[in-house]
Amino acid sequence: MALDVANSVILRHDPERRTDRFEAPGQMESFPKAAVNFCAERELFGDILPVRQENRSGFIELREAIDRYFRARVLDHGADALLADLLEGLSSVLKQSASPDGLDAATVHSALRLIAMPDPERMKICRNCGWLFIDRSKNRSRAWCDMAVCGNRAKASRHYRRRREERAS
Ligand SMILES: [Zn+2]
Repeated sequence: MALDVANSVILRHDPERRTDRFEAPGQMESFPKAAVNFCAERELFGDILPVRQENRSGFIELREAIDRYFRARVLDHGADALLADLLEGLSSVLKQSASPDGLDAATVHSALRLIAMPDPERMKICRNCGWLFIDRSKNRSRAWCDMAVCGNRAKASRHYRRRREERAS
């Protein structure tokens, strides 16, 4: 769930095409229901409520701290320094009286599980879209968040490049 929340920013690494889904009208209301149906932790959560209006800016700050910390951990670059910020973010979201059934509380619990996950090397960054994802494949060889979307796109662009090079030579 915490990664789904972090991934609500699409193409984060591309300033021109970067899109924050939570800035679109109604998304903060509809996201919890969709997320709980699709996320890997759906067994853990019941119905999840949207983040209360007054808690939203704190929640967005937490989202950014989640992304910064886990991205740094995957890249093995400066994660320990960012962990303190993330823990502070988690703590302040709980202190700002997140509803126990709210997306913010669910995100806190999910992030804590991810911090302590026994096999952190399974967390990866999609080569195509930059999303954080957990590689649950047996041989841990997944490079894309979703083979059907990003895997095929990467294959198609490789194929296109090869054809173009063939023609050029
Ligand atoms: Zn992807």
